[in-house]
Order: sequence, then structure tokens, then C-alpha cells
Amino acid sequence: MSPIDTLINTTIRSDVRSIQSYHVADAGGFIKLDAMENPYELPHALRQQLGARLAEASLNRYPVASYATLKQRVRATLGVPAGYDVMLGNGSDELISILCMACARQDRRAVVVAPTPSFVMYQRSAQFAGMDYVGVPLRADLTLDLPAMLAAIAEHRPALVFLSYPNNPTGNLFGADDIVTIIRALDGFGLAIVDEAYEPFASDTFMGRLPEFANLVVMRTVSKLGLAGIRLGYMSAAPQLLAELDKVRPPYNINVLTQIAAEFALEHVEVLNQQASALRAARADLAAAMAALPGVEVFPSAANFILIRVPNSDDAYAKLLSRKVLIKNVSKMHGVLTNCLRITVSTPEENRAFLDAFAASLSA
Ligand code: PMP
Repeated sequence: MSPIDTLINTTIRSDVRSIQSYHVADAGGFIKLDAMENPYELPHALRQQLGARLAEASLNRYPVASYATLKQRVRATLGVPAGYDVMLGNGSDELISILCMACARQDRRAVVVAPTPSFVMYQRSAQFAGMDYVGVPLRADLTLDLPAMLAAIAEHRPALVFLSYPNNPTGNLFGADDIVTIIRALDGFGLAIVDEAYEPFASDTFMGRLPEFANLVVMRTVSKLGLAGIRLGYMSAAPQLLAELDKVRPPYNINVLTQIAAEFALEHVEVLNQQASALRAARADLAAAMAALPGVEVFPSAANFILIRVPNSDDAYAKLLSRKVLIKNVSKMHGVLTNCLRITVSTPEENRAFLDAFAASLSA
């Protein structure tokens, strides 16, 4: 064994050595429909104004540690109930990791429960923090298996339950009553994190219900709204709980450029909201067009992506790739997703280009 291999074997944890890095496909030259990004830029005039603001940034100084102005802007424009603070993260990915680090325990195994398939970082962050992860399979129709969730909660008494609402990669909203039942079942020992990453495209939210449940955390991100590049997520919960979680947050986790760009973009949030509404309309058109293709099953979506089932997902994925269209093949993630593909909703032009390539890939 080479010296570097010996070093790696003695220093890096075996469970880390045995997994692959979070894979992000190289999308140069592709129509990029794999990562649930908003395809629209900010209008040119706004980008120039933003450039002028960024030019004034003091990059020699650390960010203002309290993030008071940005937090106030997030609360006011993105909707957080009065009396509820927010905690900011370098993407909601960082917040998931902070939750796990804060709840992992040295004296006993702490558990994370989530429906599966769902967002992969729930499992990874739990694992990296040293927590046990219990995935509860969705039913074949992709709805939440409430009895199985309640049984897992009773058996494992998890510190954290993550509920992606709408769920990634399935796109559906779980039943709100089921979520309430889960929050209540965790009362006294566990936190329910309702992850509303796709809220701009959904018809329901738990944000206004924070005062009803002491153990509810509502998490969101600006990524899907059109600001994926700046990396900003936030979560809201009872202030006493956020104060504890804040101890785990790395200092200055939101950089100066993100802070300025987010404040600026949220001053113009109506532009982002209009883009989201255009994407919701495009989602309906894309879903209808795919449903009209032979052999394609389209699942209902409350997000900016659509899950479909095709006769042969690997074949369709490869043929789309060869036509320079990048989507996500989720068919291997879990048994209930056999032959499933996930397509991000984009502009009418890109959706049309995808549909043409997709129709050709099915017939070829
Ligand atoms: N939650 C869900 C359900 C997601 O699908 C994603 C990203 N795909 C995230 C959180 C992470 O978002 P962010 O860009 O804020 O880290």
C-alpha cells in the first residue's frame, strides 16, 4: 500500500471512504434540466445595479455577524410569522448539517427519520454527524406511509424527522394532516423539519403554522426561486430553539457578496415571483405534453420539476444525453422509482426542445 493510501486508511473514516462524492454532472453545452434551477436571469438593468452595489463591498472585512438587515429582508419578503426569527445558512444544505450536528449525541445513538426516496442530504448529513438514519419507504403511489412513519417514530424516537414539502424527487405534497400527525407524534422528544425548498411552486406551506407546534422547524431556500448561485437558505423555529442551533453555525457563514446580492434581489422579489408564476404555467403545459406521449406516466407536481415513468429510463436518459439534454435519472434511487426520470421545468423554448428530443428518444 502506498504511503498516501495508508494515511487515508488511518485518518479518513471508513464510511466516508466507501461512498462517492455528491455527484454533479458537467452540463457545459447541454440544455440543463437536472438541478431544479430557475432558467431565468435577473433582468439586465437589475444585474447592472447589483454590479454597482457589489463594487462597493468591503471584501477586506468579515460580514456583519448579526446579518440583521438580511434577516429582516428575508422575514419581510419571504414570509415568517411575527415573533419568529430566522437562521441563515450557506444553502439549506448547511442548515440540514447544522441540525444534525446539534442533535447528534455522544451518550447514545440519535436517529434521523425521513420518508424515502427523498432529498439525499438528509441521510448524508445524519451519517456524517454520526447519527443513525431510518428511511421509511413511500407507498407505490408515492404518498406518505403514515402508519409506517408513526411506527418508526415510536420505535426509534428520532431527534429529527425531515419532510420535504413538496418532496424531492417525487414532486408531490404529502398530506398536510399526515404531517401534523407526525409533528404531534414527535412532541416532547423530536423536531419535525418541514423542508419547503419548492415552496414558490407549491400551494401550501407550514410557515404560518409555526406558533401551533413548539417542535416545528420550517426550512426554505432562495435556490429554486432564482438565486441558486448565491447559496442562501433559512429556517424558522421557536427563538429559543434557534438560539441553541445557532451555537453550531460556523461564524460568518454567509459571505459578504451573498449578503449584498440577496438583499438586492429580495428588494426586487416581485421579479422572482413573476418568474415562478411563469414556471408554474410552464409546468402545466409540460406535464400535459408529456402525458400525451405513448407509454409515459406523469406524476402530479407541486414543484418546479416533474417526475415521470417511461418504459426504459436508462435508454431514454442516454438518448436525451446524446441530444444534449441533461435530466436526472432517478430510477436507481429506490424501488418505487423504477424507470423514473426527473425533469426540471424550464422556459417554453427549452421545454419544447426537451419534448422534441424526448419524443424522438421514445420512438427511436
Ligand atoms: N431541500 C430539498 C428538498 C432540495 O431538493 C434541495 C436541493 N436540491 C435542498 C434542500 C438544498 O437546497 P440549497 O440549494 O438551499 O442547499
